[in-house]
Amino acid sequence: MNDSPQPRETLASLLSETRHFDPPADIVAGANVTGEAYERAQADRLGFWAEQAGRLDWATPWDRVLDWDNPPFAKWFVGGKLNVAYNCLDRHVEAGNGDRVAIHWEGEPGDTRTITYADLLSEVKRAANALTDLGVVAGDRVAIYMPMIPEAAMAMLACARIGATHSVVFGGFSVDALSGRINDAQAKVVITADGGYRRGKPNALKPTVDESVALCPSVEKVVVVRRTGQDVEWSDKDVWWHDVVGGAAEEHQAQPFDAEHPLFILYTSGTTAKPKGILHTSGGYLTQVSYTHHAVFDIKPESDVYWCGADIGWVTGHSYIVYGPMSNGATQLMYEGTPDTPHKGRYWELIDKYKVTILYTAPTAIRTFMKWGDDIPAQFDLTSLRILGSVGEPINPEAWMWYRKHIGGDRCPVVDTWWQTETGAIMVSPLPGVTSTTPGSAQHALPGISADVVDDTGTSVPNGGGGYLVLREPWPSMLRTIWGDDERFIETYWSRFEGMYFAGDGAKRDDEGNIWLLGRVDDVMLVSGHNISTTEVESALVSHPAVAEAAVVGATDPVTGQAIVAFTILRGGSEGDDDLLTELRNHVAKTLGPIAKPRQIMIVPELPKTRSGKIMRRLLRDVAENRSLGDVTTLQDSTVMKLIAEGMAKGK
Ligand code: ATP
Ligand code: MG
Repeated sequence: MNDSPQPRETLASLLSETRHFDPPADIVAGANVTGEAYERAQADRLGFWAEQAGRLDWATPWDRVLDWDNPPFAKWFVGGKLNVAYNCLDRHVEAGNGDRVAIHWEGEPGDTRTITYADLLSEVKRAANALTDLGVVAGDRVAIYMPMIPEAAMAMLACARIGATHSVVFGGFSVDALSGRINDAQAKVVITADGGYRRGKPNALKPTVDESVALCPSVEKVVVVRRTGQDVEWSDKDVWWHDVVGGAAEEHQAQPFDAEHPLFILYTSGTTAKPKGILHTSGGYLTQVSYTHHAVFDIKPESDVYWCGADIGWVTGHSYIVYGPMSNGATQLMYEGTPDTPHKGRYWELIDKYKVTILYTAPTAIRTFMKWGDDIPAQFDLTSLRILGSVGEPINPEAWMWYRKHIGGDRCPVVDTWWQTETGAIMVSPLPGVTSTTPGSAQHALPGISADVVDDTGTSVPNGGGGYLVLREPWPSMLRTIWGDDERFIETYWSRFEGMYFAGDGAKRDDEGNIWLLGRVDDVMLVSGHNISTTEVESALVSHPAVAEAAVVGATDPVTGQAIVAFTILRGGSEGDDDLLTELRNHVAKTLGPIAKPRQIMIVPELPKTRSGKIMRRLLRDVAENRSLGDVTTLQDSTVMKLIAEGMAKGK
């Protein structure tokens, strides 16, 4: 078409990677999912998902797999009814596995609890009765603001059991964030704790809840778990968990709910903008989290000890601590605290102690472990591990290699899993018994998922090309809307490309057809007419032995349009000098080409991150362009920005 505007040049693909690791023979031999699944799903996508839904227990079967008559509003397993908590608990106990450990819990101070599926079921039944006694009925919203204690999972499952929609808010968020989320969802009850342990100290939660509830007229009751024994203020609305749950009836019959019954609302992390209340429903969500947990982690419920290091307040905690693993009857480790308390080897000590076989963590954690040094994990026996997962940000190839070598003993496949709060479950990932892995790449859409990389006009890019990651077909665990705002749902996700879900992330396809995530498109830099991804420049910096972590932004530049400004943390916390800065700039130019050479590199002690550990580049862009800072409410540590801005002012 002549009158259409010239498409902007699509995202440049600068980094090339030739390392491959074949799946280990023992994992191939016993794999839950083989390459045949891709063909099966390709031939009949809906039939494939119906089979996966069949892994669950339905009280009433569905009569239609997908209703996509009114896109983008999907209905999956129409007419089907199930109870999510029944699928996560009762059916395992009924099958004779009540004695299997569901949660090995380790508190930060070292206290422990061992909770079997039978224990978990009985506590969830009583919690469900307690919520009902407090007046909660199906469809009501319940906010959960908790430390990483088993009651957090119990509270979620109790809500699911009675059809109340939970909204978990990360137990470190401020009054603003908590009250905003409670009000947006009009929650009737808040479940919280006096506090939790973090960095060796009790960290109070109740005062934040008290202040928030004062701003939230919808809240009728606050249920408080006693964890730390700290003094708490007490009001008429407050009840202790041990009183109301401890005193509730033991028996509870789970009622089935419609497949499209709202299961939870979860607000996105707010890395880029005001958090959105993402709504997930029951049947499709549970189908896909359960299947992906089975496929991507190759979970063997009888023998594996699985550990996802995420917080329950993030979607990873929802899908891969609670609903995925528990629907599969897995045994898992749950840890309350931080990785450096009381010492920097705590994670590895836990893996050794509980003989963890599968570890799922985030690149931010992996880079921190790299920064702390190889000698720390080397002091522990990590030979129980068999599969390693990564989620949350693109993983730099060198961080991937470090993870494989120093944690996985060069033996465990690394699965880099791409997904979002909105997608509900993993979408793009290697399969450990099938895929020959490539460091830094999430590789392929899972069976039944139609991910694609398209250019500005929505056309698939060929191998070697870069552009936008989209999903061409609906998937079972997709968000159904933004809570209370269908317009924003359509506008945010479905209006960029006709008939496709656009996720907001840039991606490329390498010469072998592997998908690489290149960071958010809002972060892409336009340098002398070339679109350059922040991820590739960051990965180039991290591939230098002196660098532990890097964040890169495009700052307005009179000559090149935008110029690359990099913020780096050095390994071992060293400060660097001008020679090193020159060497790093040249290293990037050599790795990616002169176009990607940063105009400026700053050595910083820390990077601004969200509470879930994602780098907030928009704040660094504000600094690089001398603007006042945008919204910092989701920032983990607000002093970090001050240090960085001071360094910048010194003209380093
Ligand atoms: P907000 O949408 O409010 O800005 P957020 O996008 O950080 O917050 P999440 O839903 O927790 O909230 O994160 C999903 C995003 O995380 C993805 O869109 C992607 O940018 C990034 N991401 C997650 N996993 C990966 C991965 N394996 N590789 C690359 N990026 C990833
Ligand atoms: Mg997002």
